[in-house]
Amino acid sequence: AQQQYAALRELPATARCGSTVSLNMNAGLMADLPSLEGSGAEGVGLYRTELQFLIRSKVPRRSEQAALYSRILDAGQGKRVVFRTLDIGSDKVLPYMRPADEPNPALGWRAIRLGLDRKGVMRMQLQSLLRGANGRPLALMFPMVAQFDEYREARELVLNEIEKERALGHTLPSNVEIGAMLETPSLAFAPDAFFKMVDFVSIGGNDLKQFFFAADRENERVRRRYDTLNISYLSFIGQIVDRCTAHGTPVSFCGEDAGRPTEAACFAAMGLRTLSMRPASIGPVKHMLRQINLDDLRRVIDGAAARGEQSARPVVEAWLRKQGL
Ligand code: PEP
Ligand code: MG
Repeated sequence: AQQQYAALRELPATARCGSTVSLNMNAGLMADLPSLEGSGAEGVGLYRTELQFLIRSKVPRRSEQAALYSRILDAGQGKRVVFRTLDIGSDKVLPYMRPADEPNPALGWRAIRLGLDRKGVMRMQLQSLLRGANGRPLALMFPMVAQFDEYREARELVLNEIEKERALGHTLPSNVEIGAMLETPSLAFAPDAFFKMVDFVSIGGNDLKQFFFAADRENERVRRRYDTLNISYLSFIGQIVDRCTAHGTPVSFCGEDAGRPTEAACFAAMGLRTLSMRPASIGPVKHMLRQINLDDLRRVIDGAAARGEQSARPVVEAWLRKQGL
């Protein structure tokens, strides 16, 4: 199988119906970057910046942050890298930035909430990203945005930092894209103006699924209880894609489920055309997508929904088996 995947490396993930899905990789350490070449990923769809913070005993200096971002862009050799701003709290606890004990950390003071309340750390990271880009295009996104105002405020901070960098005479990125992760169901129902303003949306399925089903992603008792191919969840994903598409907003999916071939196929059938996953999943997902017709798969999923089935998995797996997949 490894050889088979290697043979696919230079080929696009074009399905039998003619649609092509862009496959990108998730990363979080400099050590992940060689995979960008080896896996055939089009770019880095999610770079988890908190890892640099998690392996330190204090906040990395601005120069250290900027140097890392710059090296990542060097390693990317012009491929698009999406930097996710600090996602601290809940499952990612910083010893030196420890939120007070919270009864429900996943629902607590985390990610962009913490960033907007502690703007110093956020500003320093934004400056580091702008400087690390050093004239190259920069794509960044904020985690756990739950309402339009949080995005608006964070976007304003980025624009302010750009103006400050300009005033200092520093080289600005050639282009800046400011995205939002869609990880809370509320954001899917944000006003149209949000979808018009945001440069791109990236669905964080790990968190979105836990909040959609109210099932803790860290709790072994419940985390596998709800199927990713549950009809309600797939139709929710489809609705998010449709809203983004209606506003011309690029949308991608970067949770772990994108790296599972059957799940990736169903997301593509629901309309997603950009996925980001761990590098080792790119071969298997591409292999799957190239064998199937997404329009036919969509009809299989819609059929399960029409019959009132809870999950599309049984019919989807049977359909794949019939094709020897
Ligand atoms: C997600 O929630 O799907 C995601 C990509 O972010 P993380 O797993 O880092 O929370
Ligand atoms: Mg998340």
